[in-house]
This record gives sequence, structure tokens and C-alpha cells, in this order.
Amino acid sequence: MRGDSLVPQSGQACPSCGHPGMEVFYEVESVPVHSVLLFPTREKAMAYPKRDIQLGFCAECGFMANVVFDPGVHEYSSQYEETQGFSTTFQEFHRALAGRLIDRHDLRGKNLIEIGCGKGEFLTMLCEIGNNRGVGFDPAFVSERSVSDAKDRLTFIQDFYSEKYSSYHGDFLCCKMTLEHIPDTLRFMQTVRRSIGDRKHTVVFFMIPEMRRILHERAFWDIYYEHCSYFTAGSVARLFRKSGFDVRALGTEYDGQYLTIEATASDGEPSMPLPEEELAAALREEVDAFSASVSGTVRRWQERIRALQSQNARVVIWGSGSKGVTFLTKLGVNDQIRYAVDINPYRHGTFMAGTGQEIVSPDFLKTYRPEVIVVMNPIYMDEISAELARRDIRADLLPITENSEGTI
Ligand SMILES: [Zn+2]
Repeated sequence: MRGDSLVPQSGQACPSCGHPGMEVFYEVESVPVHSVLLFPTREKAMAYPKRDIQLGFCAECGFMANVVFDPGVHEYSSQYEETQGFSTTFQEFHRALAGRLIDRHDLRGKNLIEIGCGKGEFLTMLCEIGNNRGVGFDPAFVSERSVSDAKDRLTFIQDFYSEKYSSYHGDFLCCKMTLEHIPDTLRFMQTVRRSIGDRKHTVVFFMIPEMRRILHERAFWDIYYEHCSYFTAGSVARLFRKSGFDVRALGTEYDGQYLTIEATASDGEPSMPLPEEELAAALREEVDAFSASVSGTVRRWQERIRALQSQNARVVIWGSGSKGVTFLTKLGVNDQIRYAVDINPYRHGTFMAGTGQEIVSPDFLKTYRPEVIVVMNPIYMDEISAELARRDIRADLLPITENSEGTI
């Protein structure tokens, strides 16, 4: 941590607006460069490469980014196990979102494109429900997992989306939880804009983590290496406008964790800001408040985990993805927490990047019998309670965000 004041980072221009001088307000040393890769042994997991995060703020457009991000360290492959599709909470959300998008934009019998489609679950759903045709791009796509009635109408390209695919056109272009992985935000959005050309009917839908919530909740577990770019409603809208889009709608999903933006190709005259768009000046106060108090949040969690250990309480975390890796990396409590529970069977028996906890199934808890489970994403509290009840496991559930107001 650098403390309260913002330190100008000379020579670093904002990747979203070009304004010189991103100001660093939060630093994390030695975080795993990937947090959702699968490792067969604890040694391999702990030896995985680490880099630093220096989160910078652009006073001009409000964009935030890791100014020392090195995209060369990443390997997005089929070993990249990011899917949340095993959670019923997430599946219900995904299905409801697909239904809303189909209704709102009359996506029936249409051509759809998804950039960063992961394992293809969402595109498949859109094509099944709306009888659409879809093309999905993702280097982490795994073909064996796609079983669908809409299979003949789906094409998956196991590659990053880029200029060379700009001949693929759709009535609807969707990009969920991907833009936060892209360092050259303006250049990427300009590529997307060029691919649309003068097809003004094409609706563009993006979903990304909502950074104002992260700032408000001091959610340090939501700032990790894969995510180099962090947006608020205002900063993403300004990026879209600068890239040649008219911003049609801004919203949030998943208990305010995700930010959504809908846009269409612009005629040239920039559209007027929407009421949801906060000014960059207003964000500075929130950035300062996060910077001043996040180390206190980390310290309180460390004290709490140590206190539990001194009572000989067994503690596990629920959720072995990026939030879990970041939480454990920041806390440095590897002796106190040895296991992470996950419902994704593809992760069981593997180890968490950097910190080396073994990833176990909920069934493992029947023998391990933890007293306390720290829940990495509180939206899954009900689902986790049900999983525990079904196995007759009693444990205290601690939601990670309960300390957001400064008390645990
Ligand atoms: Zn900027």
C-alpha cells in the first residue's frame, strides 16, 4: 500500500482516453498472474509466476487500470477453468439475463456474436431460447462440453477476437466479463466498432465488474492480475462514446456486482450522457477513501482468522476462483486455511494458484467438519446453506463482505 495520497505515474497514458498521468492509488505485491488455472500439485501451484499490481486512476475519464500489467504472462487455454455454470444461482441469473436480452432486442431468428464466450454456455442459451444462430470467440473454449439442440446453429472459434474476424457480423454482439481482461481498451473498442461498420441496427451488449461497488465495499478480493481494467458506469460510457458508439442504456446485474452497457453505432454526433454516468471528479473521492481504508479491512480479516485458529477452529473458504486466490494472497493465512471448497467438479483435487490450498468438493466437508466457512461471494449464501443442509453439515457462514463498513 502506498498510503493516502495519489502518486502520479509519469509516462503512463490512460488506455481508455489517452490522458497522460494515471495516478496509482492501490498496490499489491506478488499476486499469481492467473488465479483460475488448474494445478495438479501444491508445489506447482505455489511456484506459479507472480507479478505486482499498481492500480492507477485517470482523473480525466475515471478509468482504472493496473499500470504495470504485462499481458505476455497470460495463458488463456482450455486449462483456464473460469466457468460459474455449476452454480444454480448463476445458472438462474444467466437464463434470466438471456431471456431479458431476447425480449428487449427481439433476438429471434437472428445472428449473434459473442466475444469471450468462455465455454459457450450463454451463447448456446441465447440460440436455444430464441432460435438464433451464433458465433463465439474464446481461446478457452472446450468443444466436448457443448451439447445442445442448437448445435447446428453454433460456431465456436478457439481464438481471441481480433481484426481478422471483423467479417463476422451480427444483429447482436455480446461481450461479457471480458473487457476487464483487455489492457488496450480504446483500441479494442475501436476494433469492435469497425467490425460493425454502418450497421446501426446491431446492438452491442457488454458486462464487466462494477468498480464503484468494489471501492465502496473495500473489496480487495475483486482486484486481481487477470483483471487489468476496471470500469464504472461513467468511465465505460465515455470509452464507448469515444470509440464511436451511442450509449443506449447502463445498468447493473447480480446484486450490483456487474455493470452492463448497451450501445449502437453512432452517426458521429456523440450521444448525451445518461443519468447513471458519474463524473471522474466524483470518483476521485471514492478512490481516495478506498486507498485510505483498505489496509484496515485486510488487517481485520487477518486478525479474525488468527483468532479462530487460536480457538482451534477449522476454517475453509467456499469459492476457489479469483476472489478466493486474491483473498488468501492478501491475508497470507496459509497455515490457518488449508482447503477451498468448490462445486465445479473439474477443480476438485487441484490446488489454488500462489497459495496452494487444495480444492475440495462439498462432500469433503462431511469428514473435515469445519467450524467456519468464509464465503467468497455472498450471492451464493442460500445455495451454500442448502448444500450444507443436504449433507447435514453445521458450520458458521461468514460472508466476505460483512466487514464492508469497517467492522467484522
Ligand atoms: Zn482516461
